[in-house]
Amino acid sequence: MRPTGHRTLVTGGAGFLGSHLCDALIQRGDSVLCVDNFHTGTRNNIAPLLAHPRFELLHHDVTLPLDIEVDRIFNLACPASPVHYQHDPVQTTRTCVHGAMNMLALAERQRARILQASTSEVYGDPEIHPQPESYWGRVNPIGMRSCYNEGKRCAETLFFDYRRQYDLDIKVVRIFNTYGPRMYIDDGRVVSNFIVQALRGEDVTLYGDGSQTRSFCYVDDLIEAMLATMETPPEFTGPVNIGNPAELSMLELAELVLRLCGSKSRIVHCPLPPDDPKLRQPDISLAIQVLGWQPKVSLDEGLTKTIAYFRAQLNA
Ligand code: NAD
Ligand code: UDP
Repeated sequence: MRPTGHRTLVTGGAGFLGSHLCDALIQRGDSVLCVDNFHTGTRNNIAPLLAHPRFELLHHDVTLPLDIEVDRIFNLACPASPVHYQHDPVQTTRTCVHGAMNMLALAERQRARILQASTSEVYGDPEIHPQPESYWGRVNPIGMRSCYNEGKRCAETLFFDYRRQYDLDIKVVRIFNTYGPRMYIDDGRVVSNFIVQALRGEDVTLYGDGSQTRSFCYVDDLIEAMLATMETPPEFTGPVNIGNPAELSMLELAELVLRLCGSKSRIVHCPLPPDDPKLRQPDISLAIQVLGWQPKVSLDEGLTKTIAYFRAQLNA
């Protein structure tokens, strides 16, 4: 592998998506600095990289300033599961907003290119379906999810103000529900919950009547799109939706997971959390046009790999 010469910072690099991104960056020849405070991330996720000569780990909280030499920054630091981001909502907003400010200030000093991991949550509970990037969203500013979706909206604002004010080279990707190996067993998100419950023979907890929809992207597809976005010309800033448009209801997901796990677990209905979006599906026309990217991994294939991962974790 010939080094690319890039010195790339990944904040949140010990998390689910961040660790897969670090793997891909090392594979393509970057020098990678992973910054994480291990709020939700684990050393296990990056254990295979620790001995690599082009990989460094820094235990640091992005809400504090950072001064290092880099030319690429992927800003992923932030808990992503509702259970995790609602545990300490003030800290979640601080991470989204102060974290973005600190990383943007670093990018400006270094004249580095910086990419923000934004989210489909900026669309809130949408009235337009599927959601294009031009949709401004319908977000409750004072609800249980607001620390995350308003925090991420403010981070997007900061990115675009740094662009206008300091001509910074920014990219914003809006990530839709993504799943795969290295999600946490107690993550609280639907894919990991359903798989772990199905494998343990426990009741599968379907919130509400299960008619709400999501569209799930396999992690490898997502990482490919993030890397492609970072390499677009400076004129392209996004925001760009990244996700798999294959939409299904949570009841359909529960039934699919039970079938793929060969599980006899029962589906039980639990209360729907407040502000839970009823529909979510990315319009990925922009990603197709600008990145020449489309997800390749079907839900059956991605879930089968993810189930194998969780089966191994539960048997370890
Ligand atoms: P994750 O919880 O697995 O990873 C987040 C990482 O950030 C963890 O390693 C955590 O320890 C670290 N972190 C949190 N606060 C920090 C702080 N203050 N300083 C330093 N490190 C901190 O979540 P994920 O699913 O890997 O999500 C990564 C990013 O992608 C997040 O920004 C999230 O908002 C975004 N995203 C993810 C999804 C998804 O479906 N996974 C969807 C939309 C957006
Ligand atoms: N959900 C569910 N059972 C669970 C966890 C989640 O039915 O055990 C539902 C949740 O109410 C939501 C969908 O699955 O409608 C996706 O939830 P998740 O927390 O994974 O992501 P988000 O709501 O942030 O898209």
